[in-house]
Amino acid sequence: MMQAFPVARVEAERRDLGLAMRRGFLGRCPHCGGGRLFRAYLKVADQCPHCGEELFHQRADDAPPYITMLIVGHFIVAGILAVDSLWPDAPMLWTGLCWAALTVAASLALLPRVKGALVGYQWALRMHGFGGPEKEPM
Ligand SMILES: [Zn+2]
Repeated sequence: MMQAFPVARVEAERRDLGLAMRRGFLGRCPHCGGGRLFRAYLKVADQCPHCGEELFHQRADDAPPYITMLIVGHFIVAGILAVDSLWPDAPMLWTGLCWAALTVAASLALLPRVKGALVGYQWALRMHGFGGPEKEPM
């Protein structure tokens, strides 16, 4: 039986979610793994300089800072509680300064990696235009 409106179906290549997220975590293009994902600390490049994949479709928004705070917070709070139970008479000022510095350093180190992994996630699942132009029914 013929359909009244034939729908254009494009068999797209399969995208490996884990590989794309690992490449993004390492700051590499989720498509080829060769080009740099970021043109600045947290600025995603418009295109991959190696394969030309369009990367401007990403919509990471507030997710990377949220996920970073979630991860860093769990480790820092666990560390504070562990140190406090092992060394209850530690000077409050110095331990506080050390934990604050460690929190800032860990957050700054993890934030671009989390954002890269999220861009890889969006690319692998063809979100926000990563799947190519929308096909109109003929
Ligand atoms: Zn690439």
